[in-house]
Amino acid sequence: MNYISTRDKSVKVTAAKAISQGISAEGGLFVPDCFPVLTKEDFDKLSKLDYVGRAKYILSGFLNDFTEDEVDYCVKGAYTNSFDNEQPAPISLIGKNANILELWHGPTCAFKDLALQLLPYLLTTSAKKVSKGKKIVILVATSGDTGKAALEGFCDVEDTEIMVFYPSDGVSPMQKLQMDSQKGENVHVCAIKGNFDDAQTGVKKIFTDNAVKEKLEQNNMQFSSANSINWGRLAPQIVYYISAYCDMLSRGEDYLKDGFNIVVPTGNFGNILAAYYAKKMGVPVNKLICASNANNVLTDFINTGKYDRNRSFFTTISPSMDILISSNLERMLFELSGNDDKAVAKMQNDLSQNGTFTVSEEIKQKMGELFFGGCCDDEATLGTIKELFSEYGYLCDTHTAVAMNVYKQYVEKTGDNRPTVIASTASPYKFANSVLSAVSDKTAESEFKTVRLLSEITSTEIPKPIKALENAQVRFKEICQKEDMLKAVYKALGI
Ligand SMILES: *Cc1c(COP(=O)(O)O)cnc(C)c1O
Repeated sequence: MNYISTRDKSVKVTAAKAISQGISAEGGLFVPDCFPVLTKEDFDKLSKLDYVGRAKYILSGFLNDFTEDEVDYCVKGAYTNSFDNEQPAPISLIGKNANILELWHGPTCAFKDLALQLLPYLLTTSAKKVSKGKKIVILVATSGDTGKAALEGFCDVEDTEIMVFYPSDGVSPMQKLQMDSQKGENVHVCAIKGNFDDAQTGVKKIFTDNAVKEKLEQNNMQFSSANSINWGRLAPQIVYYISAYCDMLSRGEDYLKDGFNIVVPTGNFGNILAAYYAKKMGVPVNKLICASNANNVLTDFINTGKYDRNRSFFTTISPSMDILISSNLERMLFELSGNDDKAVAKMQNDLSQNGTFTVSEEIKQKMGELFFGGCCDDEATLGTIKELFSEYGYLCDTHTAVAMNVYKQYVEKTGDNRPTVIASTASPYKFANSVLSAVSDKTAESEFKTVRLLSEITSTEIPKPIKALENAQVRFKEICQKEDMLKAVYKALGI
């Protein structure tokens, strides 16, 4: 297996190169040129393994130029001792069919930890193979959760520097505090005046600027990305969907006889793309349900075949999905067009020039067979949190609530009662204000009083990493204009 670029498939690199580089030189994203397909025997074998064993087996298929020892070192390092109760992705069953896949038991309480605990290992192992001796500079644009998860993952990792940009008014108070208080000698955090798309576009621009690249090279440095444009972020996410399937297999043969659905609260299209790849590898997934908040550019795209970012941007209570440019959709378009790199390059060019593109009737149809797209606004999100809590005593965060709401719309519309996996992407305590307002009329005057009140009222436990933040010291207070991101990078690197 090799990795090719979605915008020029004559570009062919190894896993180590794809991961250490992050993005292809002409702006395309790396994808495997073929996918391992798992058989019934593979799934039987995987079912008997723990998460580390499953991850090792699955990831080996993608890390073509890693030795077995290297994969072992990376996976054990990432998933041993960093998740509470030693189970990185447990399922809570609600009713008979709703399998809530809780992906927030890691150090930053969001699903990004599943990938970002592993990425530093993958990246430093890759760099040793392809660019020995160079310092790796990680640039991150974040809508809140990636930033903290990346900072935590890369904190004091040798030969790396990490710089995170987040929209100054676009993250929750808890997310902001998590990032601004990050410890570590090699970490830098900067808020920007703008939204997430501005941050992402700014970072992508810095990445693909040859003059900047040269300047880094002169200083023996090289950029890489911890955003989900990096293949090293996506591969670990495939693992938990396969692992969830293995866990459900233990409910008996009949339970999954017609396959199952997966619902994912979606922003950049990374998490749901990983679910699609799990399907491609042989997991019997029926529908992939793509749930959006009021920034419903993907819902419209799935329903009409036209992607159009020329619309109002909404700041919602599910900020990690406040995105109008879903960068991983590019990989899906590459799939759906039968690896047509020229067509993908044109669509992405149209998107950056005009903010819109339209796919062929054939692609639209394929998209509709694979995906169901739905969305809900903040009021419906809060209503779903309340309903889930009062009916099942299950407390979920705002992003997971968007997924549950759209799942309900899907069942109402189609009558499909298959078992379903719902990706639960964050702890409710990361968005305590909104979650509290959904389940109670009481309010508290500070973030941490809110957290404690939420815990009292719902009899749920405050995650340790959130508790620890109460006494954390704010280290980063900088806000820069979006035009000045490059300057901020140079300043942080001292070059
Ligand atoms: C990042 C994030 C999402 C969106 O995931 P994508 O891979 O960008 O689609 C959803 N929920 C939470 C809590 C997140 O942090």
